This record gives sequence, structure tokens and C-alpha cells, in this order.
Amino acid sequence: MADVHSQQSEAQSKPPRSLFPHQFGAVASSSTNSKDDDSKTKLPSGVVLDKDGKPCRLCTSAASWRALTKQAKVQGASTSTSEPVAEPSSSESAPSLQTTRDECPPDVENLGRSTWTLLHSMTATYPVKATQEQQSEMRTFLKLFSRLYPCWVCADDFRTWMAEPSGRNEPRLGGRADFGTWMCEAHNEVNRKLGKKEFDCRFWEERWRTGWKDGRCD
Ligand SMILES: Cc1cc2nc3c(=O)[nH]c(=O)nc-3n(C[C@H](O)[C@H](O)[C@H](O)COP(=O)(O)OP(=O)(O)OC[C@H]3O[C@@H](n4cnc5c(N)ncnc54)[C@H](O)[C@@H]3O)c2cc1C
Repeated sequence: MADVHSQQSEAQSKPPRSLFPHQFGAVASSSTNSKDDDSKTKLPSGVVLDKDGKPCRLCTSAASWRALTKQAKVQGASTSTSEPVAEPSSSESAPSLQTTRDECPPDVENLGRSTWTLLHSMTATYPVKATQEQQSEMRTFLKLFSRLYPCWVCADDFRTWMAEPSGRNEPRLGGRADFGTWMCEAHNEVNRKLGKKEFDCRFWEERWRTGWKDGRCD
């Protein structure tokens, strides 16, 4: 497990360039402006822009977001990167919670972990054999999910993967075993894209439904 995690965080801190066209495309397009206007600053590597041109926290890793806020602070928050360091107005005050990074808006990793928990849990509670109506409801959910997922670059890639022309990535919704394995394959597609270790899909049910046979989840 520790192995997987160290490999994952390493992969995240150095994303392979060719696998992140949105991220590097966004950075490149923002930084090319610097030819005309040197005051426009190159964004840190890995920062993804939203469709409105502002940095998209939900699409960006925690490490890249920290680099962005650090850069914005150094520059006195005078550029388009002002969003991440927006301060509350003097009449407002932040709730007096113990501030940890868990209490902050999600980045792409927080959002991803929570979402995979939801998606795999949906497969774990899916009927062993689904009726036509249940299959149709789940198909609709996945279609909408792949349009509405808040990390838009993730959603675009997920939708493209599902719509692969041969039809081999279409959701398999006949029953729990098929759907659970399909979701595991979908997750592995993202793992591969991010340079992470793939999960052995024979074990999806132990991970997400029954708990591991060695009893560690009892
Ligand atoms: C639909 C979708 C698309 C995404 N696209 C992107 C993207 O384009 N770019 C980006 O940076 N991030 C993306 N993410 C987020 C990314 O997948 C991870 O959630 C995030 O990087 C945090 O990873 P993690 O290492 O903590 O574990 P996660 O990948 O979040 O996995 C959580 C847990 O699930 C288990 N697991 C891992 N793989 C599988 C599997 N195949 N089947 C079953 N269980 C498994 C492991 O126990 C793991 O600890 C996406 C998330 C979703 C839901």
C-alpha cells in the first residue's frame, strides 16, 4: 500500500506532459501572452484553467494550487491569479473551525477520491441482476455525471473514453459483477493516464463491498 502511495504522489508531482493536454495547453496559452505583455505571468506547471480563463481549483492538483497561491502572494495578487488568494471583506469573518487542509475547497485529488468512493459504492449496492429500468436509470446517471463532473477536463476525458467508437467502453449494466468491473476499468483508465499503478479488478468487491478477506476491515 505504502508503495502504491509513494508511486502515486511521485506521479502527481511530475505529471507526464503528453498525458495532460488540457493542463499544458492552458498554461501554454496563458504564457504565450507574455510576448505582448510581460506583466502577465506564466502559471506554475499543472495549473488548469477553467472555461472562463481563471485557474480551476477542482481541476488542479494540491501541489500546483499551492505553487499558484504562493506565486500570487509574491506578486501581491495583482494578476488574473487573484482568485486563489481572495480575502474575506473586513465585515466577514471565517467560521472559527480548526483549520486543516480538509476544511478547504477541494482540489482535483480530494474531489477524485470522494467521487470514486461514491461511484464504486454505487456499483457495490447495484442489484446482482438489474432490471431494464435500473439499467436505464444508471445509464442516465453516468451520462449526466460525465457532463456535470466539476473537473471539466476530467469529465471531457471520461466522456470520450466511454464513447470509444468500438463500443468496448460502454457501461456494462446487466448486474453488479459487470458494473463493478466496468467501473474498476474506468478508474484504471484514469490511473494509467496519471501514471499510477493499475488496480487488479478481480478485487474490486473486496475493496468496495465485502472488505478484504484478511479481516483488516472487520
Ligand atoms: C471520473 C474521474 C475522472 C478523473 N480524471 C482525472 C484527470 O483527468 N486528471 C486528474 O489529475 N485527476 C483525475 N481524477 C482524480 C483521480 O482519479 C484521483 O482520484 C486523484 O488523483 C486522487 O488519487 P488517489 O491516488 O488518492 O486515489 P484514487 O485514484 O482517488 O483512488 C481511491 C482509492 O480507490 C482504490 N482504487 C484505485 N484504483 C481503483 C480501481 N481501478 N478500481 C477500484 N478501486 C480502485 C484505491 O484503494 C484507492 O486508494 C478523476 C476522478 C474521477 C472520478
